[in-house]
Amino acid sequence: MNLFVQAEIRSEGKKPDTKRKFDVIIIGAGPAGYTASIYTSRAKRETLIISGILPGGQLMLTTEVENFPGFAKGILGPELMTTMREQAERMGTTIVDDEVVNVDFRHKPFKILTYSEEYEADAVIIATGATPRKIGAKGEQEFSARGVSYCATCDGPFFKNQDIVVAGGGDSAMEEAIFLTKFANKVHVVHRKDSLRASKVMQDRAFENKKIQFHWNTVIEEVKGSQKVTQITIKNTTQDKTETLEVGGLFVAIGHEPNTKLFKGQVDLDDQGYIALKNHTQTNVEGVFAAGDVHDHRYRQAITAASFGCMAAIDVDKYLSERRT
Ligand code: NAP
Repeated sequence: MNLFVQAEIRSEGKKPDTKRKFDVIIIGAGPAGYTASIYTSRAKRETLIISGILPGGQLMLTTEVENFPGFAKGILGPELMTTMREQAERMGTTIVDDEVVNVDFRHKPFKILTYSEEYEADAVIIATGATPRKIGAKGEQEFSARGVSYCATCDGPFFKNQDIVVAGGGDSAMEEAIFLTKFANKVHVVHRKDSLRASKVMQDRAFENKKIQFHWNTVIEEVKGSQKVTQITIKNTTQDKTETLEVGGLFVAIGHEPNTKLFKGQVDLDDQGYIALKNHTQTNVEGVFAAGDVHDHRYRQAITAASFGCMAAIDVDKYLSERRT
């Protein structure tokens, strides 16, 4: 069966002239993808980035980034990603703003089909990232980056001396709630059940922290505010009781979905759906590598994603050199 179905939707992204075969194709244009391309292009490997529908990844949805080294005064997330893109292009990377709809890693060269073209590559770096799960509450999207955040490490310091809400009952929610008590006056943990999913050690730490208040069997109903979040309405589902909290922010920590749907059956995934790495940054398929949040569910930082991109690029360069000798 031909894996490559006829794509129906046409991309409006820039096309790379007539070239369809590259040394390296990088799928995804977040910090991991751009960094990988800077390294592979600089190593004189003809590199194509297929950027996907949201070039720049999660940083395009954030405001100020204070913890990316090199920017003493901080930098806006979208500006950081635009700068990385310019740097990648200056090194010679070709970038198409198109979406991959299918891949075939069973034979070499590898085949990658987008909405508008079919490409071939001797090596591939998967850098498609992960998407934080959304609660789906009213106002959540409207106040995203204006008080609603999906990363406490990134945004916690902006909430000094405020009351805030953390949604979730897993290890991430406990870790974020504890971290946020460094800045916030008070942290309300809102969890839909009457017990936590988090590990015992994380639960104990959170229960011991006097700044954290738990709201059990409770869901977020609405995020309200004007310029920024000022109130969150929560509802106790067992008592059918609604309460409004005067808070400056909501941290959603209910897990992430790795963007790996395309790669199911092509490379090994772990039990949570993230790409499983075998040999440094290489997947179980020789010549196919992965970098960033698509395999890393521990660190999830722009700087760690960029670092993984660098590592994957070095591994790709070595792989291509060894293959040709
Ligand atoms: P997780 O373990 O999947 O927990 C997600 C939490 O969010 C659960 O409490 C879940 O509630 C809740 N949730 C999911 N969907 C929801 C929705 N639509 N509305 C409201 N609540 C919702 O995710 P995680 O905490 O991000 O952890 C992911 C993995 O990383 C885990 O294996 C974890 O152990 C690991 N991790 C470890 C550490 C550490 O050891 N320091 C830190 C972070 C993460 P229910 O419980 O009701 O399902």
